[in-house]
Amino acid sequence: MEHNLDVYESLGVRRVVNADARRTALGGSVMPDYVWQAMREAGTSHVDIVELQERVGSEIAELTRNEKAYVTCGATAGIVLAVVACMTRGDAQAVSRLPATDGLPTEVLVHRCQRLPYDLAVDLAGGHVVPFGYVHRTEPVELEARITERTAAILYVAGEHLAKAALSLEDTVAIAKAHGVPVIVDAAAQLPPPDNLWRFTREAGADLAIFSGGKELRGPQSTGLIVGSASLVDACEMTASPHHRLGRPFKVGKEEMAGLLAAVRGYLAEDYSDRLASLEATVEFWIERLNVLPGVRAERVFPNEAGQPTPRVHVTVADQSIRADQIMSSLWDGDPRVAVARAGSHAVYITPDTLVPGEEKVVVQRLEEVLASDLSATGSQGQHTVRNEGSAS
Ligand SMILES: *Cc1c(COP(=O)(O)O)cnc(C)c1O
Repeated sequence: MEHNLDVYESLGVRRVVNADARRTALGGSVMPDYVWQAMREAGTSHVDIVELQERVGSEIAELTRNEKAYVTCGATAGIVLAVVACMTRGDAQAVSRLPATDGLPTEVLVHRCQRLPYDLAVDLAGGHVVPFGYVHRTEPVELEARITERTAAILYVAGEHLAKAALSLEDTVAIAKAHGVPVIVDAAAQLPPPDNLWRFTREAGADLAIFSGGKELRGPQSTGLIVGSASLVDACEMTASPHHRLGRPFKVGKEEMAGLLAAVRGYLAEDYSDRLASLEATVEFWIERLNVLPGVRAERVFPNEAGQPTPRVHVTVADQSIRADQIMSSLWDGDPRVAVARAGSHAVYITPDTLVPGEEKVVVQRLEEVLASDLSATGSQGQHTVRNEGSAS
């Protein structure tokens, strides 16, 4: 792929070969041409934004087999709007009084083992988090005991990596339904598999599910997608931009709406098994290349850091004087700049799914160079300079 880097170079900003993860701090994802095309076309004219939102929402709802869909400016904004929707249930007077929440239910129940920095979005909506269960396990009664007339919603963070100590989504929904409490699923990073776009809502019965537009969907980085129950999606819409309500700061442009629609369409048209096969091929290629290096062990691991069903590679160095931080900072400071993930004090993860085609060779080549120079520089002294300022976190 050709990189036109004039815009970054003129600013003195280096591009990053991202073998770490789909992270906002590394620029989310790289958009396919069909997304750019849709954004460019949308940018050539004025339009009625409410009408466009409504039409884009209907198209995405149909593509994702949901009752309704709404494009917002990131999954975190989606959580704010979803919590507001569950607090107000679309009552126009209640929405117009926000941020005053007197008389509204404001408690949002969250598994203690699913607490994340993103749940600050609950507070931003005027709600507050009430944790339930324990870090190592949760029982149904612990959720039931927390549901009162003050409960606005249950926020469930989907993902294999956060599921072990939690109730299943299905059990959570069953308890919620018995008490008339809506369930919001934070599914920001839960693609692939593509059918998660309808699984949480249509199959597991959650009221709303929220996805990042700028992660696996490869839409505009500043988009998010809310899908689910028509009445709650309508309540999100009436609170947000362009309406002069609490959600007015969550503005989405015509270009982003068109871009996310194109991204969802393209994503669902893609052959998921082809894509998995190509990720597996990269993983295999990396393992073969790295395992011949002395003192290096490369293994396939699955699922990835966000519990998604995609493979990546765990690279360990036997020499205990070589630290993961050094490998990471050498890669980060080298040319081109390469980001990988930390996997403990002497190991890193490299991930294929964020790479632009061709970059898989760059990653393994840079890793070979860095490991060779680190291994040869170690000698008997084991001295290294640690440069943390370039860390990707
Ligand atoms: C990435 C992520 C978010 C935030 O998504 P944005 O679209 O960047 O706002 C929220 N929750 C989880 C679990 C995430 O992984």
